[in-house]
Amino acid sequence: MKKLLLLTLFGAAAISAADAQTRPTNPTTTPATSDTTKRAAGIGFPGASKAQPKPYDQVITSKAISRKGMITTHKLDDKFFFEIADSTLGRDILVVSRISRAGSEVRSASGYAGDQIGSTVIRFEKGPSNRIFMRKISYRTYGPDSTTAMYQNLQRSNIQAIAAAFNIAAYSPNKRGSVIDMTDYINSDNEIFYFGSPAVKTNFRLGTQQSDRSYILGVRSFPTNVEINVVKTYSLTAAPNPFGAAAPAGFGGGAPSGSSTVELNTSLVILPKVPMKPRYFDPRVGYFTVGYTDFDSNPQGVKDIEMVKRWRLEPKAADMAKYKRGELVEPVKPIIFYIDPATPKEWVPYLMAGVNDWQKAFEKSGFKNAIMAKMAPTSKEDSTWSLDDARHSAIVYKPSEIANASGPSISDPRSGEIMESHINWYHNVMKLVHDWYMIQASAIDPRAQKMNFSPELMGDLIRFVSSHEVGHTLGLRHNYGSSSTTPSEKLRDKSFVEANGHTPSIMDYARFNYVAQPEDNIKPKGIYPRIGDYDLWAIEWGYKVLPDAKNANAEVPVLNKLTMEKLKNNRLWFGTETNPDDPRSQSEDLGDNAMISSDYGIKNLKRILVKLPDWTKANNEGYENLTTMYGQLTTQLARYMG
Ligand SMILES: [Zn+2]
Repeated sequence: MKKLLLLTLFGAAAISAADAQTRPTNPTTTPATSDTTKRAAGIGFPGASKAQPKPYDQVITSKAISRKGMITTHKLDDKFFFEIADSTLGRDILVVSRISRAGSEVRSASGYAGDQIGSTVIRFEKGPSNRIFMRKISYRTYGPDSTTAMYQNLQRSNIQAIAAAFNIAAYSPNKRGSVIDMTDYINSDNEIFYFGSPAVKTNFRLGTQQSDRSYILGVRSFPTNVEINVVKTYSLTAAPNPFGAAAPAGFGGGAPSGSSTVELNTSLVILPKVPMKPRYFDPRVGYFTVGYTDFDSNPQGVKDIEMVKRWRLEPKAADMAKYKRGELVEPVKPIIFYIDPATPKEWVPYLMAGVNDWQKAFEKSGFKNAIMAKMAPTSKEDSTWSLDDARHSAIVYKPSEIANASGPSISDPRSGEIMESHINWYHNVMKLVHDWYMIQASAIDPRAQKMNFSPELMGDLIRFVSSHEVGHTLGLRHNYGSSSTTPSEKLRDKSFVEANGHTPSIMDYARFNYVAQPEDNIKPKGIYPRIGDYDLWAIEWGYKVLPDAKNANAEVPVLNKLTMEKLKNNRLWFGTETNPDDPRSQSEDLGDNAMISSDYGIKNLKRILVKLPDWTKANNEGYENLTTMYGQLTTQLARYMG
């Protein structure tokens, strides 16, 4: 089944610019045995307590290839060193790992490349005897207020595990940093950098790492992140076939070679010194969340806290008085989406429009120019610019057969702050929107009566997909219920539907206005989805700054009052995507009465059915188009039939 968006995955797919492959030339440096029983340079290693740092230039020689950044990285032959400044010690660092490339045997178990496989927070700190510890920090149990007694108790009782220890190979020349050799750790199969748990690995049918067939592709540092790219080979485990016994060959069936090679990407992103003031989730507004267990708020128990994912938009200090008066101000740091330079030129303006369309929503929260799209500079214009730099969010073009787009983001587990986002826009999403539009709208829009749409029409469809995906990266979940707030008969009301759209939310799975009949004479703006009343409200709720509320708790009554007032307008209702039992919250449906809407849809399908042989005809070709579109038509009929 073709779904537009899989948004259970979080993690920026910053996979496009791996270093040139630097396979170790000397295979004997790669451990030949399984790494699962070994922790690189770990505690208890012979000699760990006898670490003697050497002079810097004996370790980082003139042959080293160095990159300055959040952590300065050095590559020396097959060795990779981290030079960690003292000012970075103790800072929270988010680690997100994902599969960037995989063979079909792994892909079939998971969906597609870009899947997140682990996420954790670490800190580097100085240990005794010239060592650096990497501690794994758990925010699942967290007292947000560090001044309370409970926080102190938690800090004492919850020792954060030391995940790895490294001998300091040298001190920085300025004495304010330490150099550690990361090679063995990166080469090992550890749960910090790679698969977060054995269960995740099993899910991908992967077993033990085969170290003789695993190597480091590259380690690159940027001002706020470090990207590690590795190739790893694992033995394949005999997991049950996820497609059942009838799966075609090659789809998760057998294990032809007994092992599988994957490319993994790990991002280390430094988190802000001061976490953003969080906003607590309210089930009446559809946001993605991060959560933890709070021991403070209820002295007799614990409370699960859910914070919404959102960007940090703040008025400049000088503008605060204006902001409070209700004047629109520009945020300190706007949300910028860069367009991948690889994107075909003709689609760029539409992708950009899909981003900029959100500006009017942010005006509801008091900001102007809060979000914008820009072309990414080419390497000629700025050789230092990279899609892998965590300061850059982007819409990344993937020349792929996958008919999909996705909008994952990386967020701060302490506050929900979205740090960066990479929307993956797969080339074949155009086929997807073509087929939908043709099957749902060609009875009322003559432009849709062909296999190749005009650039204008395709551009409009791309714009709507772009807006939907950007909506996800702003924190918004699907609102399957939104379309149920428009009366079915209103979908045929030209002036109403052209003014308001057929659903109040672009985050719905409402597709196109298939209810409208030819005699209604409805123009494209009454057929396409758009950013609507609900979306404007959701952004207002999530991004309005409440400067007088000292903390998230103090915001609750203010936001609750606002929400109760707003929800008197039924069009602002959020109907979750996770409750299929609610007849209002169905995907692919329209209007408040599915029977009436589907009846109209079927009337249109009958009109389309008889024309399909004509509209799909291609000279000197067979009936492949017709077969495809007939398949789409019957699928659509099944949706109308419920
Ligand atoms: Zn979606």
